[in-house]
Amino acid sequence: MQPVPSLPLRCWAEIDLAALERNLRLIRASLPPHIKYVAVVKADAYGHGLHQTVARLMHAGADLFAVANVTEAAAIRELGPGWPVLILSPLLPEEDKYLLEYDITAAVSSEEEVERFEAVGKEAGRVVPVHLKIDTGMGRLGVWHEYAGRLYERLRQAEHIRIDGAFTHFSSADDDPAFTDEQRRRFLAALRSCAGLDPSRLLIHADNSAGLETAHDGQPFNAVRVGLLQFGILPHPNSMLARVHTEPVFSFHTRVGLVKRLPAGTDISYNRTRTLKRDSVVAVICAGYGDGIARACSDRAQILVRGTRCAVLGRVTMDQTIIDVTDVPGVRCGDQATLVGRQDSGQISIAEFSAWSDSIPWETLCSVTKRVPRVYRTSLGL
Ligand SMILES: *Cc1c(COP(=O)(O)O)cnc(C)c1O
Repeated sequence: MQPVPSLPLRCWAEIDLAALERNLRLIRASLPPHIKYVAVVKADAYGHGLHQTVARLMHAGADLFAVANVTEAAAIRELGPGWPVLILSPLLPEEDKYLLEYDITAAVSSEEEVERFEAVGKEAGRVVPVHLKIDTGMGRLGVWHEYAGRLYERLRQAEHIRIDGAFTHFSSADDDPAFTDEQRRRFLAALRSCAGLDPSRLLIHADNSAGLETAHDGQPFNAVRVGLLQFGILPHPNSMLARVHTEPVFSFHTRVGLVKRLPAGTDISYNRTRTLKRDSVVAVICAGYGDGIARACSDRAQILVRGTRCAVLGRVTMDQTIIDVTDVPGVRCGDQATLVGRQDSGQISIAEFSAWSDSIPWETLCSVTKRVPRVYRTSLGL
C-alpha cells in the first residue's frame, strides 16, 4: 500500500542508495581484483527494496546476483539483461521451465534435479546453466561433499546442462573459524573428487559476509557472495570487517503522536505490564509490531527522541509504542523518533535493536512490514 503522497510519513525506512554504492566499492577494493562480486539480494534485498537496490548495485559494479526464488530472479531479469542471476534455493518442479524463460542459473544438489533440468533443456532444445552446490557441513542445501564426485559425473553426462560454477555455504563463519576452515578443506577436496572439473573455468565461491573475514586469496576461489555487509552491517559486533568502513544503508523512523503526563503508580500498557515508579511524561509513538517493532522489544528497547535514548514502557502494541520522555524536555507531537539510525549525537545500531528482541539483523530487516514505506535517498539528497 503506497502512502498518499501529500500525507506526512508516520513510520518509514530510509534507504541510502549512495551509501550502498560506496559500500560495494569499498568491499570490492578490499578484495583481490579477480574476485567476482555476487550481490545477494534475496527477500526484497534484505527488506531494502529489490528494484532500487539492484538497479544501484548494477550501476556500482556487481557481477552477478543471487536470490531465493524465481519471482525474485525474474524481477532482476526485467531490470537488466546481462547479469547472471543465481537461485540459491531449490526449485519446485513446476518452476523449472522458468529457468530458460528468464535466463536464470539454478543451484543443483541432487540427481533428481539433474534429471528435471536436463528434461527442460532437452524439450526446449537449449542449455540450462547451473552451479553445483556442495554441502560441507551446513546440512541444508547441496550434495554432501563426499558424494559430490558422483553428482558431478551425472551433470557432465547431461547434454542440456552447462556447469558454470560450484559453491558451498558456511554454517558458522561468524563464530567458528576452525569449522569454517574445515568446510573450506572439505569443499576443496570435493572439487578434486570431481573428475574432469577444471576450477579455473568455473565460478568457485564460498564466502558470505562473515566468510570474508577468513577469506584468503588462494585458488581456486574467484567469487564471493555478499549480503549483509553491502548494507553496511557487520555479521557480528567484533568483526574484523569493520576495517572496510561500510556504512548503514537502512534506518528506521517514526514520529511522536501524543505526549502526556501520568502519575506515579499508574499501571500502563496492555495487561498493565508496567507500573510507573515516578510522575512521568510519556510519548506514544506511531509504530508498533504492525510496522516491525517486535513485541519482544516490550519493556526492553530504547528509541531516540531529540537525540536522547528513551525507554519503551510496557508492551509494544500493533500501532503504538509507549516511551518514557520524562527526562527529555520539550518533546512534542510530531517529533521524529528513531528506532534504528542516528539522531544528533545519539545512535542505535540495527544489531542493538535486534538484540532487544533476541533477534539478528537479517531477521529484523525482513520484519519491517509492508505498511512501512521505503524512502530512497541518493547522493544528491533527493
Ligand atoms: C543469504 C546468503 C548469503 C549472504 O549471506 P550474508 O551473511 O548476508 O552475507 C550467501 N550465500 C548464501 C547461500 C545465502 O543464502
